[in-house]
Amino acid sequence: MTAYVRSRHPGARLVRFAGDRLARQESGGRRLCIINYHRVLTRPDPLMEAEPHLAVFRWQMKLLADGFNVLSLAEAVDLLARGRLPSRAVAITFDDGYRSVHDLALPVLREFMLPATVFVSSGFLDHGNMWNDRILEAVRRMPEGTLDLSTHGAGCYQLANQELRRQSVRQLTETAKYLPPDGRSVLIAELERRAGGVDAPDLMLTPDMVRALARSNVEIGAHTVSHPILTSLDDDSARREIVTCKRDLEAVTGNTVRFFAYPNGKEGRDFDQRHVTMAREAGYTAAFTTALGAASSGNDRFRLPRSLPWDSNPLLFSLRLLRWLLA
Ligand SMILES: [Zn+2]
Repeated sequence: MTAYVRSRHPGARLVRFAGDRLARQESGGRRLCIINYHRVLTRPDPLMEAEPHLAVFRWQMKLLADGFNVLSLAEAVDLLARGRLPSRAVAITFDDGYRSVHDLALPVLREFMLPATVFVSSGFLDHGNMWNDRILEAVRRMPEGTLDLSTHGAGCYQLANQELRRQSVRQLTETAKYLPPDGRSVLIAELERRAGGVDAPDLMLTPDMVRALARSNVEIGAHTVSHPILTSLDDDSARREIVTCKRDLEAVTGNTVRFFAYPNGKEGRDFDQRHVTMAREAGYTAAFTTALGAASSGNDRFRLPRSLPWDSNPLLFSLRLLRWLLA
């Protein structure tokens, strides 16, 4: 395979030039932007405005290939620790283990010869969708009108138009996120019953897809078994989620699973020091949060931040990355 040839477009050259000039003025070592995707959609979806569809994902990958130095997560973490990062250093990650990483993202990553990491929740490999997607698909199919879940302690929602439906999905997801697992299951079963049953496609990777990704320059990382909020579990259950996922994924790929991403990823709310210690003791090399901005050599290796620029135009997307790299 021939190497991807970087664009000579003035915009790409300007990003490279500006990134290198800014990197020279940095004190305290270069920084690393770890980009954090979830799904890639085939087409825009009014209920999932934060998720890129294929055309958006493609310009973002081209922009990274042309303007930045995209490293594998393993190389990036190693160079970060040794203070040897190149300027404009970026790594690409995907959370949860969606099938679209295999079906839609992988061909684009290959086109631009970009390495990536996908953090997989191992409990969905053979069956089932994540609870947040079950809420979204149920609300999508619900008839127009009022959705009254007050008898389930989950409030009332208006579904008169797409915007209200999108807000309802967001609010219901936030409500369900911090319910105990049993309460959440009851609420989602009720939603699916009112939506006329379960009728969503399988969204998550299969074991064969995980193996195909692992053979294609995509590292497999762990993201717990069932994607719980770790702080909502007792310590034994949390440890089991962190340890078992590693073992499950190693059985699938035959490779050591080196990296872990905390579900939801906000320290203090979604995980705390206990889970940092558990990840270390489970034998991971590094762990990743969803704190905003770039990682620096001063970051704890088990608390490396990740984020996705939310800008919908390439210039602002580049500027935000450069700003994080410099901040
Ligand atoms: Zn996740």
